[in-house]
Amino acid sequence: MTVFDRMSSPAPLGSGLILQPVGMEVLAAIGLADAMRARGAAISRLFGKVQPSGRVVLDVQYAAGAGEAGHGVGAHRGALFDILLKGAEDAGASFEFGREIAGASGGRLHFADGGSSARFDLVIDALGVWSPLSAPPDQVLPFGALWTNVDWPEGDARFDATALEQRYEQARKMVGVLPIGSLEAGGRRMASFFWSLKHTDFQAWRAGGLSRWKESVVALWPETEDLLRQISEPEQLVFASYAHRTRRGPVSDGVIHVGDSWHCASPQLGQGANMGLLDALALSSALSAHDDLASAADSYARMRIWHIRFYQTVSWLFTPAYQSDLASVAWWRDWVMAPLSRVPPGPQFLSGLVSGTICAPLAAIRRHAAAGKDDARLPSAAVTPYKHR
Ligand SMILES: Cc1cc2nc3c(=O)[nH]c(=O)nc-3n(C[C@H](O)[C@H](O)[C@H](O)COP(=O)(O)OP(=O)(O)OC[C@H]3O[C@@H](n4cnc5c(N)ncnc54)[C@H](O)[C@@H]3O)c2cc1C
Repeated sequence: MTVFDRMSSPAPLGSGLILQPVGMEVLAAIGLADAMRARGAAISRLFGKVQPSGRVVLDVQYAAGAGEAGHGVGAHRGALFDILLKGAEDAGASFEFGREIAGASGGRLHFADGGSSARFDLVIDALGVWSPLSAPPDQVLPFGALWTNVDWPEGDARFDATALEQRYEQARKMVGVLPIGSLEAGGRRMASFFWSLKHTDFQAWRAGGLSRWKESVVALWPETEDLLRQISEPEQLVFASYAHRTRRGPVSDGVIHVGDSWHCASPQLGQGANMGLLDALALSSALSAHDDLASAADSYARMRIWHIRFYQTVSWLFTPAYQSDLASVAWWRDWVMAPLSRVPPGPQFLSGLVSGTICAPLAAIRRHAAAGKDDARLPSAAVTPYKHR
């Protein structure tokens, strides 16, 4: 198996994310969960207050779910990247860096410099949202966010080291702090810090200067003032745009899509990386269970389709409740969704929702894999590429 990436050397992109219980189960299946737990931060709660009232409008406890005391794992993207890279190396993958992929046909990749790869039995597209091997996203969402990593405020009891916390002004403004553990096992603890921002406001944000921006953040969440001292240059913040796309199926023109190249959404539910991990496990199981590629691709699609449809739809519905200019949507979130979420089965549903377990994706993978052959041969494959931002 050969992994191609346009980066000149292996490197993570972006700041932090939550590995949900379902994603941790995939890492456990490939022997990488303990390494991730050793570096990540256990997240037991997602908590949000609307300002200036201080009214709690988001309070999801993982432990509320079907009798399991599950939790997510806040992860530094660099830590997840290292763990996956080592896992791929140990599994015998080889790597080609500095390869900008422009297309694929007949089992070959075509590069932007005009060259082509050797012919592979299978091309797997893991090129993310803007994959040139997939259709462009249906919708680039108006809001994205500025993200950075900061040192965890050790000893500051105003921050909960086991919770993703957010503060909102209606749905127009949002600031969040996510504990992400450390880059190295035993290293200093860190947090991802994010601020919701519209694409169209990005230039005005840059022009306005950091001091003015910090004043708006502190007005929304005064306790972040100390964290903000760690940000001294605008370049420390990376603007991430969010897009939505769900392809009908994972196969096109002889290429099989995994992760964001098949389905991408805003990260409000924190599922994207977990869905990519599930796709990878499903594809690997399907390839092991079937000795012809057409049956394996069909089995892969069946393993994943309902989970993907459900989470893509719910992400699309939930996103405006946290990132939108509409006061009516924020009102609906605060006065209808939030009270309902406290009444059973609201807490159980929300726990299952964020855990990634609704539609039982792992059971679907096991069921469809069991329906195939057990003695199948795994074909050689080009994976493009096997990593996370
Ligand atoms: C701000 C933000 C926060 C998020 N938070 C969460 C969260 O809490 N939990 C969660 O599960 N998910 C989260 N997500 C979603 C998650 O990051 C993505 O779903 C996940 O990274 C998708 O993985 P992927 O492998 O499909 O693509 P990517 O991670 O985008 O990887 C694509 C790779 O392809 C390479 N590449 C791209 N184009 C080319 C090309 N033409 N030629 C060669 N190489 C190329 C890139 O260099 C990169 O290495 C978040 C996303 C964002 C933007």
